Amino acid sequence: MGFEKFGTVSFTSQTRLNPFVDRLFEGKISGSQCQKCGVAYFPPRADCSGCLSSDMKWFDVGGTGKLVTYSTLSYAPTGFEEDLPYTIAIARFKGDIQIFGRLSKTIEPEEIAVGMDLVISPVRLPGDRIAYEFQKP
Ligand SMILES: [Zn+2]
Repeated sequence: MGFEKFGTVSFTSQTRLNPFVDRLFEGKISGSQCQKCGVAYFPPRADCSGCLSSDMKWFDVGGTGKLVTYSTLSYAPTGFEEDLPYTIAIARFKGDIQIFGRLSKTIEPEEIAVGMDLVISPVRLPGDRIAYEFQKP
């Protein structure tokens, strides 16, 4: 199972990162952390861009994060048109991990505020695909 299962539009195959999608199906949102210098990455990377080590270990992003910034889109790239309008956001989680993703449509536009609490959850998409989104705790 690989990135072809992730999101609405297929990702290029990134075989070394396939566990990201497997873990998503298990309900875990995962980043990777360099075991040499400790830098954490999300989305996960197979190699550390800091020290070039390939000694990376998975970790789960959990708990409650804070909304850092967001933007509601009225136009979307090819493949996303049917979802409009939707809100993309960056939220910061424990360990200063910044995650880019979509806000759940269960959050009303007037509720969206920088600094609000968010949790991150896997969401099933049609066609046995999977992604994640930010939801209210
Ligand atoms: Zn490193």
